[in-house]
Amino acid sequence: MFEEEYFFTCPHCWEEISMLLDVTIPRQNYVEDCEVCCNPLHIFYRADEEGISEFDVRPAQA
Ligand SMILES: [Zn+2]
Repeated sequence: MFEEEYFFTCPHCWEEISMLLDVTIPRQNYVEDCEVCCNPLHIFYRADEEGISEFDVRPAQA
């Protein structure tokens, strides 16, 4: 398993947070709570051999 730390702004609290993304999976789509405000975030990303190629985060419904 190979992980890359990715920094982004939380769409709930606007704090900069980071998450470890598994770049061995080419496409991921899941919900994870913000480590600062604990609101759910809908994470979507794509990864290739050079790392994260596309990343999107939206507020998820609790
Ligand atoms: Zn937050």
